[in-house]
Amino acid sequence: MKIVRSIAELKRDHSVSLGFVPTMGAFHEGHLSLMRVAKSHHDVAAVSLFVNPTQFGQGEDFERYPRNLDRDAEMAESAGVDILFAPDVSQMYPRKTTEIQVSGVTERWEGGHRPGHFTGVATVVAKLFNIVQPTAAYFGQKDLQQCLVIQRMVADLNLPVELKFEETVRESDGLAMSSRNVYLSDSNRAIAPNLYQELKNIRDGVLVKSASVDSLLSSAINRLNAVGFTVDYLELVDLDTMAPIRDLEQDAAIIVAARLGSTRLIDNLRILLNSL
Ligand code: AMP
Repeated sequence: MKIVRSIAELKRDHSVSLGFVPTMGAFHEGHLSLMRVAKSHHDVAAVSLFVNPTQFGQGEDFERYPRNLDRDAEMAESAGVDILFAPDVSQMYPRKTTEIQVSGVTERWEGGHRPGHFTGVATVVAKLFNIVQPTAAYFGQKDLQQCLVIQRMVADLNLPVELKFEETVRESDGLAMSSRNVYLSDSNRAIAPNLYQELKNIRDGVLVKSASVDSLLSSAINRLNAVGFTVDYLELVDLDTMAPIRDLEQDAAIIVAARLGSTRLIDNLRILLNSL
């Protein structure tokens, strides 16, 4: 595996197909599974590792975000990655005069709670696409709204890249893997799986109509509050638009963001009508 620190060193060979996985490092099985899928579908698998400052808001965890290039490089290599692109901030942002702002799908949920977050994400992903020039790019559905934002950006700007969205990888107790899980204290780590459990409770309740969607959501929020979460949002949304819905007439997702101690966790569970 080649570790590349500068944009100039990345030379795209257009005779091969290239699968690309953008990341912020602190790898876990969720990242590694994206890398393996990329490698299995392409001649070359490339991963970017860049803790992107522009997608963090003031008071967020940019400074303390876990960083360990040596460990990450070893893990990426073991997943079959060919190129690890790990630029520093001055490589990526010699200036910040151009931004990509996706409207509509960015307004609610993560966009509402983290102003500017998706502009930072869209801008860095567009830059990375231009730098790496992938055949296809792989993202995790754990960041469901991010998938929609990138899908919209690629369509609106006619970017020549195929997008693949892969299933969320979970710990054995259901907690969605995340680089931020290392922030959890032991006691909060034991509570954290409640989040996914509540997503499943809501899904089951919605499917059998055991109560109204509003009351299923508010009961789950109450139970999460009772064990120590502070819920930013918990909603049933249309999978394409992320607008709240109250009847299951289209593919949907239950989405959640909640804080536990100083850790903010997000998760979601899709409900696909044709797989019911
Ligand atoms: P990050 O390093 O957190 O920016 O994540 C890099 C990529 O890995 C994004 O496309 C994420 O959606 C994806 N990812 C993060 N956690 C998981 C997970 N538990 N399962 C699948 N993909 C994930």
